[in-house]
Amino acid sequence: MASGKSDLSHRLRRLLRLPRLSFRIHLTLWFALLACAILAGAGMYLGSRLTHDLAASRGETLYASARFTSDLLSTRINERVIEISLIADSSLLTEGDLSRPQVRRAFERRKVAHEEYAWIGVADVDGTVLQSADGLLIGAKVAERPWFVGAKRGFYIGDVHEAVLLAKLLPQKNKNEPLRFIDIAAPLFDHDGRLRGVLGSHVHWQWVTDTVEKLVRSHGVRGGMEVLIADRKGNILYPFDLIGRTRLPEMPDASARFATVAWEHGREYLTSVVGVEVGRDNALGWRIALRQPVELAFEPVTRLRDHLIGMGVLAALLCAVLVYRFAVRLSRPLEDLAEAVREVEAYGSTARYPTDSRIPEIRKLSKAVRSMTDSLLANERSLAVLNSSLEGQVAQRTAELTAANAELERLATRDSLTGLLNRRRFDEALREQFRLYRRNRAGFALAFVDVDHFKHVNDRFGHLAGDAVLRQLSGILGACTRETDLVGRYGGEEFVILLPGVEDAAAMQRIGEKIRAVVESTPFPEVGQLTISVGMSRAQFGDTEAQQIVARADRALYRAKGEGRNRVIID
Ligand code: GH3
Ligand code: MG
Ligand code: MG
Repeated sequence: MASGKSDLSHRLRRLLRLPRLSFRIHLTLWFALLACAILAGAGMYLGSRLTHDLAASRGETLYASARFTSDLLSTRINERVIEISLIADSSLLTEGDLSRPQVRRAFERRKVAHEEYAWIGVADVDGTVLQSADGLLIGAKVAERPWFVGAKRGFYIGDVHEAVLLAKLLPQKNKNEPLRFIDIAAPLFDHDGRLRGVLGSHVHWQWVTDTVEKLVRSHGVRGGMEVLIADRKGNILYPFDLIGRTRLPEMPDASARFATVAWEHGREYLTSVVGVEVGRDNALGWRIALRQPVELAFEPVTRLRDHLIGMGVLAALLCAVLVYRFAVRLSRPLEDLAEAVREVEAYGSTARYPTDSRIPEIRKLSKAVRSMTDSLLANERSLAVLNSSLEGQVAQRTAELTAANAELERLATRDSLTGLLNRRRFDEALREQFRLYRRNRAGFALAFVDVDHFKHVNDRFGHLAGDAVLRQLSGILGACTRETDLVGRYGGEEFVILLPGVEDAAAMQRIGEKIRAVVESTPFPEVGQLTISVGMSRAQFGDTEAQQIVARADRALYRAKGEGRNRVIID
């Protein structure tokens, strides 16, 4: 499991071409990432919660403002509607001449009391204006005007429209906007119920918009919040600069108090739409819309989110710095420890261990490694001492063994009295020489030497003197022969000489004679003068074994003894 995971991280690192990161960088990155993730998560959670809550509260505020505006507007328009219908029903207009001065005075009182009236007057059934406040348009023909046409059929409330006849007669309050009115008109009947004329009034549209604006100002609408009035079809009536530039969008849910919807250019607004009930049967069908761009509506959330992001980055940085410092504190003694262990490995001496770390576990580890390496080094030193003493002992034993082996070799191959080759070793050498002769015809000769009457020597001077004679004689034999010749003691007072390369009888005679003469002329301190008899033979064609040569030399010696001793006989 763990190896699979590390394998995965290894592969990921190779895929991203990341270098192998140190422990402290790992720790720092992970913690910074963790801090970022926690704050980002908290920010996202809080953001979504707050957005939701803020949308609800902002939406409710919008709705309340829209509802209040619509209520106030409908109340105020309905007041005018009621007023017009009351005037229409008053005896002032149901009886008597409609053009009499009292009618004009009554209209003017109304107009003074209610500045919203731009014009108020009466027309006869043919559409000729009979009387009006300030005498405006008296005698004018209004038979074609919608309010007159409408009011002949019943009470009339007309949608906002630009001034036609009054445009030139009335002062313009707002230079940027044309003079616009809404019309309220009522039919006039006599006591018999016959139509006798029409009471008409133009109410300044600006009175409507002022009402709305005052309201908006008094409610402290802010943050890009706008109030709009739209007609039944969704065309904008107010504000003037939005007319024709935008339309009231369809609300996704007609019963919802507010929603986020797209207005002109697809820009999203938190929007609340409320109808304005005016007159019977909702004659105007206006709607009040309050809207606020979502980015402004949710600006506190955005600000909070930005704060959170800033705090997140700060916290991550702080976290990274703290963790980095901690990681350094943690990893530096580990690196020092690794370095110390490397030093011990390289130089085999005690290194400086980091024992001053503030982290107790690291101090413990350091102490443990130090005591372990110290004990290992001590062991190593005592092993080295042991080793060198062992090596000395082995060398000494080897030397002793070599000496013992040499001594053994000497004992096995030499005669103890004279130091010459013993019979066994001599026989080996003879067989070897014979094999050489058989292979390449390298001829050789053999001489048997026997002391004459040696028994007398022993008998007269004792065995010790005899031994001394034998030792001296062996020296003479060695001195009289070449280095390549082999001299051996064959047994008792009999000696044997192997002479490689000596093949002819003359040479054999010369050598044997020389030895004999030297012995005869040499004084032996213990016994005086001595003589020897010599029997010689040589390797011959047809010899199948060395013993045949030995037998011939022995025979020759026997003959030498028989012929009077102190002589050399060649077989
Ligand atoms: P010949 O002239 O016929 O050779 O007479 P010889 O007395 O030399 O012959 P013999 O074979 O009868 O005697 C040899 C003697 O050599 C007998 C023995 O006591 C003596 N002898 C053999 N080996 C040793 C030895 O190692 N030391 C001493 N001192 N005497 C030895
Ligand atoms: Mg003998
Ligand atoms: Mg003898």
